Amino acid sequence: MYVVACIKQVPDTTQVQIDPVTNTLVRDGIPFIINPYDTHALEESLRMKGRYGFKAAALSMGPPNAEAALRKALALGVDEAILLSDRAFGGADTLSTSNVLAAAISKLAQDDEVGIVFCGKQTIDGDTAQVGPGIAIRLGFSQLTLVDRIEHLDFLAKKIRVRRKLEGRYEIVEAKLPAMITVVRELNRPRYPTVPMRLKASKGEVRVWDNSELKLDPNSIGLKGSPTWVSRIFSPERSKGEMLGDGLNDPKGTARLLVERLLARDMLAV
Ligand SMILES: Cc1cc2nc3c(=O)[nH]c(=O)nc-3n(C[C@H](O)[C@H](O)[C@H](O)COP(=O)(O)OP(=O)(O)OC[C@H]3O[C@@H](n4cnc5c(N)ncnc54)[C@H](O)[C@@H]3O)c2cc1C
Repeated sequence: MYVVACIKQVPDTTQVQIDPVTNTLVRDGIPFIINPYDTHALEESLRMKGRYGFKAAALSMGPPNAEAALRKALALGVDEAILLSDRAFGGADTLSTSNVLAAAISKLAQDDEVGIVFCGKQTIDGDTAQVGPGIAIRLGFSQLTLVDRIEHLDFLAKKIRVRRKLEGRYEIVEAKLPAMITVVRELNRPRYPTVPMRLKASKGEVRVWDNSELKLDPNSIGLKGSPTWVSRIFSPERSKGEMLGDGLNDPKGTARLLVERLLARDMLAV
C-alpha cells in the first residue's frame, strides 16, 4: 500500500513578489523551500512507512527546479519521488493543480493501492487550502482536513480515526480508507536528513512525469484548465494607524517610542 505526501516548493520569504504585468509569482533569485506544512505531511508519511511498512511516495507539481524538494524527500526516506512537470501544467490555478495531482495519484495506484494521501493544510504562497480537498473529491477519497493527531489506523478494516484541530475545539472523525488528510504543524516534529542520507539521495532517482504520462485533456491542465484569473494583485493602502520606525532597524528605539506614545495617551500605567 502507498502512502503519498504532496509537497510544494514555495519561495522562502513572506515578501512574495508578483509580476505586475502577468500577475504571476516572480521566481527569479528567490530561494525555495518545501512548504512548511508539507514537511509535516512528509514526516507523517514516513512514520506510516516505518510503522506499517507502507511504500512512501512524494509528489510535487512544479518547474524542473522543484526536483530539489523531492531530493530532500528522498534523503528523508521516501521510496519514490515524482516530479510532475510539463510546460502545459504551467499557470495552473487550484483546480488544474488538483487535476494533475489526482491523475498522478491514480497512475501510482496502478502499481499498488494508495491508502492515504497527506497534504499540508495550505501553502504559504497560494494560501488557498483548496488543493487537498480538490484531490480528495476527484479521487473519491475520504476528506479529513486540519488533522493534528492520527488516533487510530486499522488498515485491514480500512478505517482511520483522526483528531481535527478546529477553532476553540477538537473533533474526532472516523473515515474509510483511502483518505486524503491535510495536516497542521502540531501533528509531528519533522526529522532532518543526515549527511549520509543526503549523499545517498543525491544519487537517487526523481522520476519526471509530464502529460504524455498522465494523458490529461489539455483543456483541464495549466492555464487552459484554470477558470480563475488574477485580474490584479496589490498591497492594500494603509488606511489608519502609524508605523513607528521602519520595522527593521533600531528595535529598542522603536519600543521606547511606542511606550512614550502609549504613556502620552494614558494607555499605559507605570
Ligand atoms: C486565482 C488563482 C490564479 C492563479 N494563477 C497562477 C498562475 O497563473 N501561475 C502560477 O504559477 N500560479 C498561479 N496560481 C497559484 C496556483 O494556483 C497555486 O500555486 C496552486 O494551485 C496551489 O495552490 P495553493 O498554493 O493555494 O495550495 P493549497 O491549496 O493552499 O495547498 C494545500 C496543499 O496541497 C498540496 N499542494 C498544493 N500545490 C501543490 C503542488 N504544486 N505540488 C504538490 N502538492 C501541492 C500541498 O500539500 C499543500 O500543502 C493561482 C492561484 C489562484 C488562486
